[in-house]
Amino acid sequence: MSEASNDFSYLAANWADVRARVDAACHAAGRDPGEVSILPVSKTFGPEVVRAAMALGLHRFGENKVQEVRSKSEALAGESVEWVVIGHLQTNKAKDVARLVSEVQSLDRLELAEVLQRRLEIEDRAIDVLVEVKTSPEESKHGLAPDQLSALLDALRGFDRLRVRGLMTLAVQSDDSDAVRTCFRRLRQLRDAEQARGHDLPRLSMGMSGDFPLAIAEGATEIRVGTAVFGVRQVAKHTVPN
Ligand SMILES: *Cc1c(COP(=O)(O)O)cnc(C)c1O
Repeated sequence: MSEASNDFSYLAANWADVRARVDAACHAAGRDPGEVSILPVSKTFGPEVVRAAMALGLHRFGENKVQEVRSKSEALAGESVEWVVIGHLQTNKAKDVARLVSEVQSLDRLELAEVLQRRLEIEDRAIDVLVEVKTSPEESKHGLAPDQLSALLDALRGFDRLRVRGLMTLAVQSDDSDAVRTCFRRLRQLRDAEQARGHDLPRLSMGMSGDFPLAIAEGATEIRVGTAVFGVRQVAKHTVPN
């Protein structure tokens, strides 16, 4: 419920601005703007902010912590909202993922797929997944090593509750746009190679607030945007244990 003091008009302005920048990046790259969707990333923002974004017609939100999905989906019970997990997933969160989440973009290992499959069977659900690939040399980044992608995709054919739709990556955090762009190009090339091996991978989730024009130039079909839509995250304010 929005209070009188809560003015979320900035959300509509930010959303329109991001959409316009996406369209411009598509035109610059000679791509149809209809090919690139925007996943709003609502992590650290409370359910009242998600509700205000829903009033703009958004219904699918990226989160990096399952605990946040749980608290927000409780607060928004009865609303038709879809949660997309984009952060590193521990296997002990699989039960809540199977119950509450419509898509996981951070699938990065077989063990996680096995646990998700089992939990989804119990819930009698299936979800879309993207495989997260590590395209950056940074140690801190999660994601599957590129040389293990073929084996994981082959193995995932056996998991009927996980519909593999594409790949996801985070680029290196750098002011060097060539280095950033190289990460995105690497993901597209990996996707193309796996498609040639017979895997159907139409989706490439790459690009965030600071680097999405480069990702669009390299073929992103979906960008994940937090700050540019919701503003700067005040991590302490809404932090919940995960
Ligand atoms: C937080 C996050 C984003 C969005 O980041 P912004 O820079 O705020 O747009 C995108 N992808 C992942 C995996 C994230 O964790």
